[in-house]
Amino acid sequence: MERYLTRPVRLTIFTSLLALVFPAARLLLVGLLIGIALWKGIKELKAGNQNKSYAYLSIVIIFLLLTGYTFYSAHQVRTALQNVELDISQVKDGQYQGQGEGKRGLIKVAVEVNEGEVTEIKILEESETPSIGGVAMNKLKNQILKKQAVEVDSISGATLSSNGFKAAVSKALWEGMPKKPEVSGLAKVMYFLLENNLNKVTFNSLAILFIILMMVDYTIHAILAKDTGQSLNCMNCQTCVGACPVKIADGDPFPMTMVLEARLGNYERVEELAPYCVGCSKCSGKCPAGISAPSVAGSSIKLLNKKRQEEAAKERDVVKDRDIIQDESIDQTVVTTDQGVSVEG
Ligand code: SF4
Ligand code: SF4
Repeated sequence: MERYLTRPVRLTIFTSLLALVFPAARLLLVGLLIGIALWKGIKELKAGNQNKSYAYLSIVIIFLLLTGYTFYSAHQVRTALQNVELDISQVKDGQYQGQGEGKRGLIKVAVEVNEGEVTEIKILEESETPSIGGVAMNKLKNQILKKQAVEVDSISGATLSSNGFKAAVSKALWEGMPKKPEVSGLAKVMYFLLENNLNKVTFNSLAILFIILMMVDYTIHAILAKDTGQSLNCMNCQTCVGACPVKIADGDPFPMTMVLEARLGNYERVEELAPYCVGCSKCSGKCPAGISAPSVAGSSIKLLNKKRQEEAAKERDVVKDRDIIQDESIDQTVVTTDQGVSVEG
């Protein structure tokens, strides 16, 4: 029982229980599950396992998250766009304040809204010329009340005062508008892609990216495995076993096991199995992936020998360093003078 309760399983159980009690923990649970899938997927890719189920699962999760986010973004931006225009009928009842820059300073107003209509506009503060700006603001106030819209013509000869007054009324009304949702830059990009039907291109691109990633994965492993790279293409079909006159070597199906061991980098095992091969080449002629078992074995043994040579060289260097240290300590002499005792060498 204990061996099944691995850390990821324990964490999942704990967070699931937590999620039952605290709804906010559900997000944590989803994050944890995604995290586990990604972590396992990366481990699989790093280890070069043939079974990449978690890696594929991670890609599917990322794909689904991106898709979900794309549609959510589109909804978010659409909602935001609906509220781009100031619509007095949507303004909630109440009194709102706003300010605008007139010709001679700030113009502050209080706008009263009742049942979707502007019922009163009070000028709270202004320093415009009464005979020009003052008159213009009063005229604009009447026009706005009459038309129930802020987009009214400015009064000629008092354009700056008119604009300042309209800006103040507009800002006050915006205060009463339903809140616009915050839209992130990424959400806008997603919306643009959807609106322009680029989502199809995007999803196709993701599919292409997926294939490219798989190819890159295989290529990287082929490069890493150098000459043994062809073993990565083995499909465990056992055709080579049927073709090979040996068939079973050291209790394992031959030469398939040898190829699979090479893929795992277990070159010592390949070295043990290689002597069973008689070099008839029947396996490579039949293998659907064109794998030559003797060639894989030869490359593996070459890599193994290289590794052994490197280790031996390292060992020699360590021994040499140790000898030098010992020699140096032997050469040291103790010199006694009137000033004291010193070590030379
Ligand atoms: S070359 Fe070796 S591994 Fe391949 S079929 Fe012949 S004996 Fe078997
Ligand atoms: S025939 Fe080729 S692909 Fe099939 S198991 Fe043998 S080496 Fe692998």
